[in-house]
Amino acid sequence: MDFRLSEEQIEFQQMTRRFARNEITPLASLIDEEGRFPFETFRKMGELGLLGILIPEAYGGVGQSILTFCVVMEEIAYACAATAMSYTVSSALCGHNLVRNASEAQKRRYLPELASGRKIFSIAMTEPGAGSDVLSMRSTAERRGDHYVINGSKTFITNAPVSEVFLVYVRTDRAAGPHGLSLILVEKGTPGFSVGQPFKKMGMNGSPTAEIFFSDCRVPVENLVGKEHGAMSMLLGGLDMERAVGAPLGVGAAQCALDRCLAYVQERHQFGQPLALFEMIQAKLANMSVEIEAARLLTHKAAWLCDQGVRCSAEASQAKLYATEMGVRVASEAVQIFGGYGYMREYGIERLYRDAKAGTIVAGTSEIQRLIIARELMKRSGV
Ligand SMILES: Cc1cc2nc3c(=O)[nH]c(=O)nc-3n(C[C@H](O)[C@H](O)[C@H](O)COP(=O)(O)OP(=O)(O)OC[C@H]3O[C@@H](n4cnc5c(N)ncnc54)[C@H](O)[C@@H]3O)c2cc1C
Repeated sequence: MDFRLSEEQIEFQQMTRRFARNEITPLASLIDEEGRFPFETFRKMGELGLLGILIPEAYGGVGQSILTFCVVMEEIAYACAATAMSYTVSSALCGHNLVRNASEAQKRRYLPELASGRKIFSIAMTEPGAGSDVLSMRSTAERRGDHYVINGSKTFITNAPVSEVFLVYVRTDRAAGPHGLSLILVEKGTPGFSVGQPFKKMGMNGSPTAEIFFSDCRVPVENLVGKEHGAMSMLLGGLDMERAVGAPLGVGAAQCALDRCLAYVQERHQFGQPLALFEMIQAKLANMSVEIEAARLLTHKAAWLCDQGVRCSAEASQAKLYATEMGVRVASEAVQIFGGYGYMREYGIERLYRDAKAGTIVAGTSEIQRLIIARELMKRSGV
């Protein structure tokens, strides 16, 4: 048992921390206020190799582990949760999906563009009528000669207004239920494909979200990823990893909230003394630190299990559930510690709270994580 990160992981952590605090933190409030996607940040992340953490060197990445990705992701989420959200969708959810499932030609064509930051990617599963029950999706792709013709729509798609490439789950066999799904690559500009206006959201405003529409959208059969009707196993096969990499969103934001509070309670005086000397404030800080460390350990354990190639549905869901809910609790305590100033936009604390809430909904809601954990517990106990 060894809780230390490797030297290489510490190097990635420190390099990302320097970059994120110098280049991402100063933009966090601005992109939130203006609802602006940070293209420049992505270009620089590409140059530093951060977009290709999970992509092998042969395709322009740096070929690191899922644990290293989580370490890097925590640093980016510390600086700006919205940037981290767009980052994890393009780099991990899309990048790792293509590494696992795409053909050699698809990998050569798309992965270097993703890893360099030249192109942003989206993954589209959710539909207006199929959210948690995602396997009931209804968008279709019909094979006609050497093309698929796609019809339907997807909603809440992260990065959609800025993405060039979309990984879209569709139904290719209407009668086969969850065994009739396929994954197809759709490029921006394909006739019949369009993107809606960005949604106005509670938080994560620098990470644009929109609906996408398909109306007799023709894509070549070469754009099929993996086997026709074979998407369910691809989708389920990636879930552990997707949940593990969602967890550092909560950890990074909560660590930022705690660090901001530690500075504030020493500066701010009431009743003739710094807030830091009030025991109720000290208890809040202590509780925040325990929760953050517990979430970090759950996250690293789930990521490590994924790296060992072990199925870890319960552990990945435990990490995602605890870390994202903890992110909301800790950010809420931070608003409380800052008092009225915490409630004002100018201080950037309420943003942490608004952004953290998204973590409990995306990539499977907290309720769905609880269902998975309970099912897994029963399975393992032989019930
Ligand atoms: C900011 C943001 C970004 C997103 N990005 C993407 C993206 O890039 N790609 C993508 O495909 N999707 C994306 N989503 C969609 C997200 O994955 C879904 O919102 C999520 O899966 C929940 O689906 P729903 O919103 O339809 O809620 P519903 O499934 O309608 O759920 C509503 C409520 O009912 C609960 N519920 C549902 N089923 C059960 C059950 N069996 N037992 C108990 N409770 C249940 C839920 O937990 C929730 O509280 C994003 C969402 C947000 C908010």
